[in-house]
Amino acid sequence: SKHITGHTGLLCLLGSPVAHSVSPEMHNEACDQLGLDYTYLAFDVPEDKMPEAVQGLRTMGARGWNITMPGKNIMCKLADKVSPASEISGACNTIVNDNGVLTAYTTDGVGFMRAVAENGVDIIGKKMTLLGAGGAATAILVQAALDGVAEINVFNVRDNFFSRAEEIVARLNERTECKVTLHDYDDPEILRASIAESAILVNGTSVGMAPNVDRTIITDTSMFHKDLFVFDVIYNPQETRLLREAKEAGCRTGNGMYMLLYQGAASFKLWTGEEMPVEIIKEKYFS
Ligand code: NDP
Repeated sequence: SKHITGHTGLLCLLGSPVAHSVSPEMHNEACDQLGLDYTYLAFDVPEDKMPEAVQGLRTMGARGWNITMPGKNIMCKLADKVSPASEISGACNTIVNDNGVLTAYTTDGVGFMRAVAENGVDIIGKKMTLLGAGGAATAILVQAALDGVAEINVFNVRDNFFSRAEEIVARLNERTECKVTLHDYDDPEILRASIAESAILVNGTSVGMAPNVDRTIITDTSMFHKDLFVFDVIYNPQETRLLREAKEAGCRTGNGMYMLLYQGAASFKLWTGEEMPVEIIKEKYFS
């Protein structure tokens, strides 16, 4: 139970819906553990109200905020400064307010890289196969390319995200050492060849998320090989059909739960300068 005073700083989450989010619990617990005088609240704000919300938070001197759907793209435009990853993707999930100057960051990809590393898997200089080009997949793509993954093949349905993905892929090829190629699923042999050469396969889509737990993009399990680490951004269920079948084929696997935790830890560090006590948070909210 926090003692809120006139000194207490404000952190928050903006988006719609937000009531289901674990972020308030995670950040308030971390502040309590470290004795930091902030409180973190969730505000349900639709996209068209984001400019007003930002104006209010800036005026009131909030230290920073997270942004979830549908505000991740517009928030980038409302910031004064934009990190390289947010600039390339056009999206952000974190704002830091330094005396009225707002800087946009994307920590989802940072969370992904830490979650993979903590599994003891080294993907720097290696090849990645990434399924999807939506919000989560793009954050992973951009951070992996910036951090030194050598080659990434992105697969996506030729749908509404494809032209945006083409632009992001072009920017990454121009600005990073990573060789990024965008494909659709028309020729399954291209996907098979990519997975065969990859150290990691990432599902960055919602396919397999509850309640559609019987779905998977990789229906041909002969594409798995024992040197492959398979990661799923989905955290509900913790073991998707993709991960279950990959495990059965002898692959090591990881799910999206710790990616969620570590994106929070990265945002927390940006606001407070402190390391989130992740072991305590894991035990209380991620087990
Ligand atoms: P988006 O709506 O931005 O993206 C959804 C993606 O799924 C798109 O690439 C879409 O491709 C693809 N997709 C949907 N249906 C199909 C299909 N039938 N076949 C192939 N691809 C399909 O959602 P998000 O990126 O925000 O979320 C995706 C998942 O990631 C969710 O399960 C979410 O819970 C999880 N997530 C996890 C996080 C974590 O920290 N672990 C953080 C954020 C999200 P197309 O456009 O071609 O349909």
